[in-house]
Amino acid sequence: MFEKILIANRGEIACRVIKTARRMGIRTVAVYSEADASARHVRMADEAVLIGPASVKESYLVIERIIAAAKQTGAQAIHPGYGFLSENEAFCHACDEAGIVFIGPPVSAIHAMGSKSEAKKIMGAAGVPLTPGYHGDDQDPAYLHQQADGIGYPVLIKAAAGGGGKGMRLVEKSADFIEMLASCKREAISSFGDDHVLIEKYITRPRHIEIQVFGDTQGNCVYLFERDCSVQRRHQKVLEEAPAPGMTLERRAAMGKAAVDAAKAVGYVGAGTVEFIANQDGSFYFMEMNTRLQVEHPVTEMITGLDLVEWQLRVAAGEPLPLAQEQLQIRGHALEARIYAEDPDKGFLPSIGKLVHLSPPGEGLHVRVDTGVEEGDEISPHYDPMIAKLIVWDQNRDRALARMLQALAEYRVVGVSNNIEFLSRLTACPAFATADLDTGLIEREKAYLFPEGKEAPAEVWLIAALAELLRETNRAEDKAARGRDPKSPWHARDGWRVNATAHRGLIFRLGEVQKTVNVAYRADGYTLTVDGRSVEARGELNPRGLMRVELDGTRMDATVIAAAEKRHVFAQGRAWQLANVDPLYHAGEGGGAEGGLLAPMPGKVIALIAAEGATVEKGAPLLILEAMKMEHTITAPGPGTVKAFRFAVGDQVGDGAELVDFEVAK
Ligand code: ADP
Ligand code: ADP
Ligand code: MG
Repeated sequence: MFEKILIANRGEIACRVIKTARRMGIRTVAVYSEADASARHVRMADEAVLIGPASVKESYLVIERIIAAAKQTGAQAIHPGYGFLSENEAFCHACDEAGIVFIGPPVSAIHAMGSKSEAKKIMGAAGVPLTPGYHGDDQDPAYLHQQADGIGYPVLIKAAAGGGGKGMRLVEKSADFIEMLASCKREAISSFGDDHVLIEKYITRPRHIEIQVFGDTQGNCVYLFERDCSVQRRHQKVLEEAPAPGMTLERRAAMGKAAVDAAKAVGYVGAGTVEFIANQDGSFYFMEMNTRLQVEHPVTEMITGLDLVEWQLRVAAGEPLPLAQEQLQIRGHALEARIYAEDPDKGFLPSIGKLVHLSPPGEGLHVRVDTGVEEGDEISPHYDPMIAKLIVWDQNRDRALARMLQALAEYRVVGVSNNIEFLSRLTACPAFATADLDTGLIEREKAYLFPEGKEAPAEVWLIAALAELLRETNRAEDKAARGRDPKSPWHARDGWRVNATAHRGLIFRLGEVQKTVNVAYRADGYTLTVDGRSVEARGELNPRGLMRVELDGTRMDATVIAAAEKRHVFAQGRAWQLANVDPLYHAGEGGGAEGGLLAPMPGKVIALIAAEGATVEKGAPLLILEAMKMEHTITAPGPGTVKAFRFAVGDQVGDGAELVDFEVAK
């Protein structure tokens, strides 16, 4: 076994690999960019090497720097994680050249599966069922258009080099094809440096079911069952589970065999995933093979009781697979939710900022949290905005669902927008709960998943007010404890105040709704009145924001985190973001320009669509901004005139920068 390995990655996956290496007594070397100098993976590793500035192109993607770091520290092998260089042939090759073991498949297998088009050719020859479509070399737009017409709409255009749900366009009708092709190629070039595409028949109501495979250097190959990753947004997985609901023993065996055949067809070694798209009737087609450890591998670990990173290390060190197919078994059910810094109500727009408060649910037999960040860390625009993966396990799916809901309710994130509430609604939504799955679930269940308005029950306002009062009390007690005269009336907490009455109003705002909670002090608590209803309230608040609340004799737990004027209230499994309104402060209206014309986040202008001087309708696309590896179309906030663009194509823009001088028609 290796004595020392280097992990050519960051975030949760680097931490995940380090954890297993440490358990196996293997020393670890982290690499990091300037932006990650104090990142969790750097702190966890035994050694760490700086490899460049924040931009991935100058750090995590620079092969020579990573090889040099491995040589310098004497690492015998490199684990690439997922993303970054994990499926990069040149990197795998460079490791070979340097005499360092690449913890992954041989370069020939990466090559064979690197292009979705090439992979389909090989799989077709190996007898694995394929999605109908065109995956040939002719890239002439007119020819591709003709192929799409022949396949029949809807079709999906995919970047052959694509991944992570990017570089894909759904085309509903022939008239849209050419425009979608151009947009797809634009994204493919900027994300993958290669604009070769293929076309597939778009399967309606499909499920995404993938098989985990593992091969060793002795020619053994097994499958570790399936994962269902049907719940997606923008073709990107959000909730994953194993085993797949409704899977029959026969179909599992058939898919397992197809996956092992696929792996064997390319001489596969190590961990790999064969992805299939399945119809509701269970028939399935090969989609692609990912030649690396997958983001969602923990659900497989939870149901098999195995450590896939340990298997990867053993196989890379030349050992045979620890278990044979007959020895593998499924136990219980596991779910994984990807916790992202993003705003589900704004089209899942990534959110950046400091994790002011971060407290995940406690880990144990049923709950696992894989993360690369800690409280105080930044979610930066340079990298994937994932905060953590939350994985739960239990005897069956229903119990696992209950565990997931509980764990999500306990998760507290303050500082960036996040999808935790959305994930709770998703887990609880009847379609998911009854396993009525397909990749369109989120779109289909929109009404349930994105409820209009966020009205808060009276308790939320009361809890926010109570937290405010308890915080004052705690502060007063602190001071009294430190001060010379604990009896001083200046520290009293019964509302006694010079020139003040024992009544006061606390004002909070939630979205457009502002409410005043009236407070009357009593000996053992407060009488709080909101919306004309009065309750007797008391409780305790600890410095981490955990609260014990009693409202008219009913006890409940809650958390209230104060960050600047924001009051994050977590109660009854939900979260609300209130603002504490200071009645003496009057904020100015608006920020100058129209909201929609400001850059929603730092990014790069990649296309100016409207012409300067043009008169456009409301919603007309004006320009395209690329931020965090996604395209965002900035549209006209109303009918009006494009007076001038503030930036040119290729310019970097800061968060909130005014992009267009736009005059709304009166
Ligand atoms: P798939 O390729 O089938 O989507 P995964 O979900 O495991 O499989 O992730 C795919 C790849 O995309 C990984 O290489 C991962 O680094 C990257 N990725 C996943 N999520 C994101 C994201 N939100 N932004 C950018 N890259 C991502
Ligand atoms: P990536 O490399 O980005 O993971 P995939 O080829 O694995 O790309 O596709 C990602 C997702 O897009 C799938 O999980 C599925 O939801 C959807 N998808 C892919 N191909 C099809 C298809 N032919 N019909 C319908 N949906 C598809
Ligand atoms: Mg995929």
